[in-house]
Amino acid sequence: MKKFNILLLFFVILISCQSDKKENSFDFTTTFEHSEGTETATYQEVIEFYNQLAEHYRSVAIYEMGKTDSGEPLHLVTFNPDRSFESEFSSDRDKNILLINNGIHPGESDGIDASMMLFRDLAQNEIDTPKNTIIAVIPVYNIGGALNRNGYSRANQNGPIEYGFRGNARNYNLNRDFIKADTRNAQSFNEIFKTVRPQLFIDNHVSNGADYQYTLTHLFTQHDKLGGDLGNYINESLMHQLEDSLKQKDWDLTPYVNVFNRTPDRGFSQFLDNPRYSTGYTALFNTLGLMVETHMLKPYKQRVEGTYELMRSFIEIADKDASKIKEYYNKNLELYSPGDTYPIAWELDSTKTTTLNFKGYEAEMIPSQVTGMSRLKYDTTKPYNRPVTYYNHYKQKKTVTIPEYYVIPTGYWNVVLTLRSSGIRVERSQKDTIVHAEVYKIDSYETSRSAYEGHYPHYNTKVIVNMEDVTIEKGDYLVRTDQNGLRYIIETLEPEAVDSFFNWNFFDAILQQKEYFSPYVWEEIALEQLESDPDLKQEFENKKNSDPAFSGNWYMQLDWIYKRSPYYERSHLRYPVVRVGG
Ligand SMILES: [Zn+2]
Repeated sequence: MKKFNILLLFFVILISCQSDKKENSFDFTTTFEHSEGTETATYQEVIEFYNQLAEHYRSVAIYEMGKTDSGEPLHLVTFNPDRSFESEFSSDRDKNILLINNGIHPGESDGIDASMMLFRDLAQNEIDTPKNTIIAVIPVYNIGGALNRNGYSRANQNGPIEYGFRGNARNYNLNRDFIKADTRNAQSFNEIFKTVRPQLFIDNHVSNGADYQYTLTHLFTQHDKLGGDLGNYINESLMHQLEDSLKQKDWDLTPYVNVFNRTPDRGFSQFLDNPRYSTGYTALFNTLGLMVETHMLKPYKQRVEGTYELMRSFIEIADKDASKIKEYYNKNLELYSPGDTYPIAWELDSTKTTTLNFKGYEAEMIPSQVTGMSRLKYDTTKPYNRPVTYYNHYKQKKTVTIPEYYVIPTGYWNVVLTLRSSGIRVERSQKDTIVHAEVYKIDSYETSRSAYEGHYPHYNTKVIVNMEDVTIEKGDYLVRTDQNGLRYIIETLEPEAVDSFFNWNFFDAILQQKEYFSPYVWEEIALEQLESDPDLKQEFENKKNSDPAFSGNWYMQLDWIYKRSPYYERSHLRYPVVRVGG
């Protein structure tokens, strides 16, 4: 029903965009250009700009796509000269789609301004029209943050004069919210993503961290993790083509310099984009993602112009390689099947490295005039060009076997809503039935001691697997893994996966025991338990003999018997989602 409403909405808005081209009565010079590269457009200016583009040019359409926490709707704008409703988003469309996301961190506004100019120049035929690729843009993703304008919250950043704040209308960092989807922004993004199903994705940011000569850095989704021909294509072709293309335009481009509080010359590793991050989320659907990170200390004008040129080069390459990208994307959708081994954790492979010809600045430790201790100081008058080791390979650390399906009990409707919001097909059992299933018991986990993005998430989660006959009740949810969202299903429903729903506190109620025993009553029953089960009694005696802490603690002993009796609740630490087949 929800989907139908959204589709209907598309029609209504789309039809309003199909009026004949009007006289160009609107000034399409952006705030960025008017201010000679010192200011970024306000949220209202951005939306007015795209509304006017859609009014004036048939190739541009603007859609409202769900709500955000700010109360304002999330917009999606497309550039597609061959528009028809069917070809725009249908799964059998010929063209690829590139989805560009801006202002997830509104203080990092470079992409907001660069995308406005890019769409104008596409609409006005100032740059070549891509033949095989639809360009779609979210003008501003974190609208609440964009409305919260100030001139201070990016303390290390060289412009613009004013900008939005990192937290959204409820102070969430949206670039950690793609899996847990606490915000309406994330829920609407997931709706957009499943509707658009892009082959390609760009998320525009500004970096923090070290100083170096480059304005532009690229942070591609980790290619070993993306896997298949698509992962190889990033590492062996696209990345080099992008660097070469920008080089021809006198823009240097380097991999994201993933170092903090030290200099890059001792080498650095590629950032591992787990599913909580934008490109980590898109990788779960085999979308080739790229985070653009401009350098915070470079002037705003230069950063926006660089972002524009980077996106332009990316589009040219993606359009030239469109059939290859579509082929690799389709092959990646078939990469995993039930019964296969699937990696749920990755670690750096320090045996495989690349040498970068890195353009940095000399740095030294000097006495701090603030603290009196030593501090890091870069000397921008001393640029260097030096080989630096880049660790850009990851290897599988932990795997699971992909089951045929997962069973989610009816009560966990919230989990099902989140799965469906990301386009996962969930069926319901038509009858009561008993299946032989793998059941997880949560063996151990650690919990963050400080608040993180609205949660106290778990980590280092370990499970024990048992085979049990499990009753699937009529109405329970079945999630088959032979669907396009396979990777999302595994990485959210396997508790040991880093960004699992378990780790994001969706199942915390099972971690707490609900019923206990009164020792003076339990004494008699405990005795009966031991006397009716000689094996249990032997095990109990052995434990008392070998474990002094146990033998000296009457409560531990009673509890030990309780937990081995039928009186102990089955749900405690029992992960309610079970695995069948595979
Ligand atoms: Zn950012």
